[in-house]
Amino acid sequence: MTLPLKTQPPVELVAPGIWMVPTVVPDNPIGWTQTYLIESSDGPYLVDTGWNHDLAWADLMAGLVTCGTSVEEVRGVIVTHHHPDHLGLVGRVREASGCWVGMHDADTSLVKQHREILLDDPSVLAAETITLLQEADAGPCEIDEMMDAHQAFRMEVPELPDRHLGTQTLQLGDRRVDLQHTPGHTPGHLCLRIDGRLLTGDHLLKTISSHVGLYGFEADDKDPLGDYFSSLRLLTGAEPVEVLPAHRGRFTGVDARVAELLEHHADRLAEIRTALASGPLAPWALCRAMTWNRPWDELPRGMLRAALAEAMAHVRLLERSGDVVVVRGTPTQVRLT
Ligand SMILES: [Zn+2]
Ligand SMILES: [Zn+2]
Repeated sequence: MTLPLKTQPPVELVAPGIWMVPTVVPDNPIGWTQTYLIESSDGPYLVDTGWNHDLAWADLMAGLVTCGTSVEEVRGVIVTHHHPDHLGLVGRVREASGCWVGMHDADTSLVKQHREILLDDPSVLAAETITLLQEADAGPCEIDEMMDAHQAFRMEVPELPDRHLGTQTLQLGDRRVDLQHTPGHTPGHLCLRIDGRLLTGDHLLKTISSHVGLYGFEADDKDPLGDYFSSLRLLTGAEPVEVLPAHRGRFTGVDARVAELLEHHADRLAEIRTALASGPLAPWALCRAMTWNRPWDELPRGMLRAALAEAMAHVRLLERSGDVVVVRGTPTQVRLT
């Protein structure tokens, strides 16, 4: 989750007619988003945009010039998923170019809900988070610290896409792009295959284990971690020339990376079962029992909400497989069946 800051790489032609254009994500450990530009006989298409910030916009504008084009020429944007480091700049790109913006409907409906809350009463988000943390049995001091960390984080109202994309083949001028719906990191996440390359957005990264969380607004039958496992397996058995992810290094060896990630999560699930063997626990205690990339008490306060969501995604998978029972309340109790 938390990453050391590294240097943002330069714009690079990573495959014939495919450019990587990094755009900064200011004040965020992720550092930057790797947008891709696909050249076609029709004009350029983008995969993702970047965070809605003037510095990221400047990176994108300069990057497009390096690619030999400009924002006015962009014909369409494929958004891998709704997170603000991917969707953020679509409004500015669409306004400058008149291009279409496509994303999966499952993510678009989350953006619609989010817009309604932000436009109506953003304080609802903080109130819901506090209730959720109390149900998880987080301490009052921890809750205060986390809410302070979140308040430093200003959220722009996200733009809505104008086109639904799912598992399908897109013809972009002379380029063929095969889209694959890969839910897990978000319900509508998309991966793309083009000319033997696999663009994985945030679904499959070289050194980062993608965040998969259960945030409390999902229906009881939703199992994001189970979806994520299925979506990882969808990518196996067809090794691409190279994986072009949205963050950090390009890589090869999809099957090996998928096996590594499945093992990582199997270990976390085993930790939960072991912790529950001596009796029921509240979600916050389960978080403490799980291994994170640093000791729990040293995790930045702003990351704890995501860590809880990640723990609850593991609990939901165990609940759906009949291994645990979740008794909701204040606090919620999780026990082995
Ligand atoms: Zn993401
Ligand atoms: Zn991202």
